[in-house]
Amino acid sequence: MRLHCKRRHFPVWQAADPYVRLEGNEPMSAPKKLFIKTYGCQMNVYDSERMAEALGGQGYVETKSADDADMILLNTCHIREKAAEKVYSELGRFKGLKAEKPDLKIGVAGCVAQAEGEEIMRRQPLVDLVVGPQSYHRLPEMESKARAGEKVLDTDFPEEDKFEKLKNRPKAKRGPTAFLTVQEGCDKFCAFCVVPYTRGAEVSRPVSRIIGEAQELVERGVREITLLGQNVNAYHGEGPNGADWTLAQLIWELDKIDGLERIRFTTSHPNDMMDDLIEAHGTCKKLMPYLHLPVQAGSDRILKRMNRSHTAESYIRLIERIRAARPDILISGDFIVGFPEETEEDFQATLDLIEEVKYGTAYSFKYSTRPGTPAAERAQVEAAVADERLQRLQALLTRQQREVQDSMVGREVGVLFEKAGRLPGQMVGKSDYLHAVHVADCDRAIGDLARVRIVSSGANSLAGELIG
Ligand code: SAM
Ligand code: SF4
Repeated sequence: MRLHCKRRHFPVWQAADPYVRLEGNEPMSAPKKLFIKTYGCQMNVYDSERMAEALGGQGYVETKSADDADMILLNTCHIREKAAEKVYSELGRFKGLKAEKPDLKIGVAGCVAQAEGEEIMRRQPLVDLVVGPQSYHRLPEMESKARAGEKVLDTDFPEEDKFEKLKNRPKAKRGPTAFLTVQEGCDKFCAFCVVPYTRGAEVSRPVSRIIGEAQELVERGVREITLLGQNVNAYHGEGPNGADWTLAQLIWELDKIDGLERIRFTTSHPNDMMDDLIEAHGTCKKLMPYLHLPVQAGSDRILKRMNRSHTAESYIRLIERIRAARPDILISGDFIVGFPEETEEDFQATLDLIEEVKYGTAYSFKYSTRPGTPAAERAQVEAAVADERLQRLQALLTRQQREVQDSMVGREVGVLFEKAGRLPGQMVGKSDYLHAVHVADCDRAIGDLARVRIVSSGANSLAGELIG
């Protein structure tokens, strides 16, 4: 059992190896450069942004190259096997760089940092700093200690709200889409998953802080916000009247912000798909017709062993209710194949569920044993069998995805332009349904929202023309 227990505190400890010790904290005239590599989910993308901003206060600017960095930060993901090994091999690649530049600081953040803790510094002494996902607000202080030659580790689950401490976000203009974390952690303990151990218990941010951050993002040019959470629809943050607000209430409050045109949220759990949220999908114009609702498997026996506390049938009925509220909604899902004890019959039930639901997009994974989780102790499915099932499942999902994408041809959709295309005069944006759309001879700018008629469907994107 290697997973560290929630809320366990690890002390900050001193460097045994003096080779990283600096002469002091001399002020540097040129800005220091920070290279962040982000692994995993959107929540890590958001966290990396916030960490870069926090270190901005320490005089850092971001660089795209590890070679000219004064600090390298790996923001890691621990959801599937070999994640930790990948981090160690990535760290190994920085050996030469560290030898050339002894004052280079190297840090590991994210869920591998949380799960592996001090083991990282033991196995890879070139690491100066290890920070768990709940302690990012302490990074500036940790960086100063690392600069002074200390080895610093913080995988605590502190009482204070890290987002409140990280509240002063920059005011500079930015792109038209942004992530905004509203909820973190998970209390559901699916038998395969490390998230409840690495991210801790479910916590929701207060409504006023989220609205404040959203308003600031809109002032900086953001027109679409994706609300993030490990179980975002379990959101229950403190509302203006002191009572807990649901995700739907939060969405309606965001709906009032002038200039914010689109709202999305991810990732949801079927059991937390409440009536007011389903209703919002039918009535809130800014809430986009896209829902990521993982089911993991279609066999009730396996769902029970996964500790999912929903059945295939209840999931299908839920999708029906959501489609009754918003008939054109695009449904996305997550699937795990080769979960311990999965038989061919169980697997067939997953294929049947997919046939019935019809997914517009999906993420599918071979079950990956996570030491310390209940499923790790059970009879494992042979790798070759799981590989073959994954191929069959992905073939079906790819076919469905293509059908849904092709069915967009001839339809009018909203497109938010995010960047220039590769061809002259071409712009690329995302449709309401999250499909990438290329528009030729486009006189619109990044951040413009336009009506577009879809004219063709390619391998992974659509082509359209401006209407009017
Ligand atoms: N909270 C979300 C839910 O309940 O569906 C999912 C969040 S999880 C970070 C993202 C996805 O990773 C899961 O939906 C699951 O499909 C996949 N996943 C998690 N643990 C896994 C494991 N041990 N092996 C394979 N896939 C896994
Ligand atoms: Fe992991 Fe999602 Fe299950 Fe929580 S609900 S344990 S995050 S898969």
